[in-house]
Amino acid sequence: MDLKKRDSLLLYKLQLLDLKIFQIENSDIEKNLIEILLEIKKTDEDVKKLSNELKEKELEIKNIEGEIADLNRRRDKLKEALSSGKKLSEKELNSIQSEIDKINNLTKKNEDVIIEIDEFIEKTKEKIKKQNEFLDIKKKEELNEELKIKEEKEKLNIDKDKYIKKRDELIKKIPEELLNFYQININRFGRKIISVVIEDRCSECGMILPYGLISILKNSDKSINCENCGRFLILKKDIDIDF
Ligand SMILES: [Zn+2]
Repeated sequence: MDLKKRDSLLLYKLQLLDLKIFQIENSDIEKNLIEILLEIKKTDEDVKKLSNELKEKELEIKNIEGEIADLNRRRDKLKEALSSGKKLSEKELNSIQSEIDKINNLTKKNEDVIIEIDEFIEKTKEKIKKQNEFLDIKKKEELNEELKIKEEKEKLNIDKDKYIKKRDELIKKIPEELLNFYQININRFGRKIISVVIEDRCSECGMILPYGLISILKNSDKSINCENCGRFLILKKDIDIDF
């Protein structure tokens, strides 16, 4: 299809408006919010995991305390046997004493384990506290971000309405055949069917254009295609857009 310069200019204006509308419709304004929500989810899961570990460790301490109580009862019985006045052979005495020593060792080991678990519990509580503080910060950020998005969306919608109105006005000026041509081909060229020549280059594909071609653009009312990407070319000086 042959285009006149004024056709290309009309399509260039249409293309700019369509690009702006496209960008608004595809804007990524919720990106930050999504990141914040992911962080909140992950931290929530961490807190749950740590709280479960805490419960397990507290239960473990209770069990060990139960074991220590059992050991104490066994030792008390052995001590009773020693102090009952009953005559015991040396072998029996030694056996009871060695049993008491074993129980003392076991008790000491259990008490050491409790100390270790207590330290772990304190550290875990500290971690949970920090994670909860982080959660508070992130939840405030979430609220701020939601407000920001709401404002941004309102602003974008106002802009979009403005561009749609301009587009409606513009397409009244475009002959039907030309408009059909635009609509059929615009996606083929990555939403840019018209390319502006800047410093002798096609601004879309970057190709340096031959002098002859630039000369035709300068001295005729024709718009010609870029030899490389096929887009219609217009000169920067021919653009009279005021958005
Ligand atoms: Zn090109």
